[in-house]
Amino acid sequence: MIQKSVIERTKTSKINCLHFINGKYTASINNKLFENINPATQEIIGHVAEGGYEEIDLAVQAAKNAFENGWKQIPSRERAAILRKIGDLILERKEELATLEAIDTGKPYWLTSSVDIPRAAYNFHFFSEYMTSLGTEAYQMDNVALNYAVRKPLGVVGLINPWNLPLFLLTWKLAPCLAAGNTAVLKPAEWTPLTATILGEICKEAGVPDGVVNIVHGFGPDSAGSALTEHPDVKAITFTGETSTGKQIMKTAANSLKRLSYELGGKNPNIIFADANLDEVIETTIKSSFVNQGQVCLCGSRIYVQRESYDEFVEKFVNKTKELVVGDPFAEDTFMGAMISEEHYNRVLSYIELAKEEGGTILTGGKKPSHLDKGFYLEPTIIVDLNNDCRLIREEIFGPVVTVLPFDTEEEVIGYANDTVYGLSASIWTNDVRRAHRVADQVEAGIVWVNTWFLRDLRTPFGGMKQSGVGREGGMHSFEFYSELKNICIKL
Ligand code: NAD
Repeated sequence: MIQKSVIERTKTSKINCLHFINGKYTASINNKLFENINPATQEIIGHVAEGGYEEIDLAVQAAKNAFENGWKQIPSRERAAILRKIGDLILERKEELATLEAIDTGKPYWLTSSVDIPRAAYNFHFFSEYMTSLGTEAYQMDNVALNYAVRKPLGVVGLINPWNLPLFLLTWKLAPCLAAGNTAVLKPAEWTPLTATILGEICKEAGVPDGVVNIVHGFGPDSAGSALTEHPDVKAITFTGETSTGKQIMKTAANSLKRLSYELGGKNPNIIFADANLDEVIETTIKSSFVNQGQVCLCGSRIYVQRESYDEFVEKFVNKTKELVVGDPFAEDTFMGAMISEEHYNRVLSYIELAKEEGGTILTGGKKPSHLDKGFYLEPTIIVDLNNDCRLIREEIFGPVVTVLPFDTEEEVIGYANDTVYGLSASIWTNDVRRAHRVADQVEAGIVWVNTWFLRDLRTPFGGMKQSGVGREGGMHSFEFYSELKNICIKL
């Protein structure tokens, strides 16, 4: 049940965001501020301190001191207890955080309160438990020597985040980073600073020592983002965002040879065979196409349907899509809220114009809902009659826009699915178990779902192939990134 008082109070007051450095909220050194806009109302939520090289240097020095003078020596059980407490405190403040996340992103409150914030808490709870059960390798060389590996933290890690799942993704990085014994400097996305700012306070209350978690707001190039990737004392950067930004960061980070983990863009295929249960397919495809206004890296924006089912699928899918309510993120019946910003909204609209130029037919959507005046709202959009070479099918749009194409054979659809620079995820719908295995094996994607979407077990490897990522997160894979493995060889 939504507590109206919490929401009203949070919605109506202006909220300014400061950096969080060495356990204290800190203003911008040069008094630089930028506006934070509510995408659903286009009103100013508040102002955000803009950090640059000086703030990043302060944060990195604080993180370095905290690492050397305490955090790396704290017994892992104590660190695990602190992580658990952070998760508990996030849950205690769930309504407030879910409200702030909805205001900041334009996404519906039902989503922030049922997915974003509970998952942010679970990220801490999961890694708190997981870290205490981790082992390493040991190899005995007959009776000559015994080798065993130990994990050591890296030191200061830079965490750079996108705006689409702000607290969800930030905590997905921060929890294992701390669990492995590192200290952190976070750079939240400039469009969504609110929940990250509150996280500083939560960490402090949970017992995180000053300097272990630092948050510096700002932009990417020539701002906090590049300052963090350039800093010589930052040992590793974990980045989630656009593929093109990832390339930029890789160049910058090369000078100090930083370890990198990348979760990048996607253009994920949703492959529907004629033997699949169409009602089940459509229920999930509505979500995989339009949840969070289509602004999820895992969204299945390229839908391929076997020809025998194509007409029936398109008719049912279009009808269901027309029923979706777009509007006020806090209204009970809203399915989709507003898109993140005017800049991104215009970019997505430009793809809808391109679809027309490329010969596509828009079956539904393609414009702002007529009943909405302010806000970056876009109707869920379904486009057909394009071929697989179109830019619309090759480029990541990152909005509520999907294309549907027919196919005949398994071989043909695998070709379509893999004909992309991306390789993040794929969904395959079929009741033929052999085909499910065959296709799953051949599709070039780091995460393949069969007869489902977005079902996550946090112990499993998460990441993209090709230009969708470098490395894997999740379970032991996160620990592999956030620690150095040292082999010790003892002569027997
Ligand atoms: P973005 O690349 O524009 O920005 C991400 C972050 O990088 C922001 O904090 C930004 O300030 C910072 N940044 C930008 N330029 C930088 C630079 N030169 N140096 C250092 N930092 C810099 O991405 P976005 O628009 O915020 O997010 C959307 C993208 O993220 C989409 O491509 C989406 O697919 C991807 N994404 C991927 C995953 C995944 O798990 N693979 C998850 C969520 C989002």
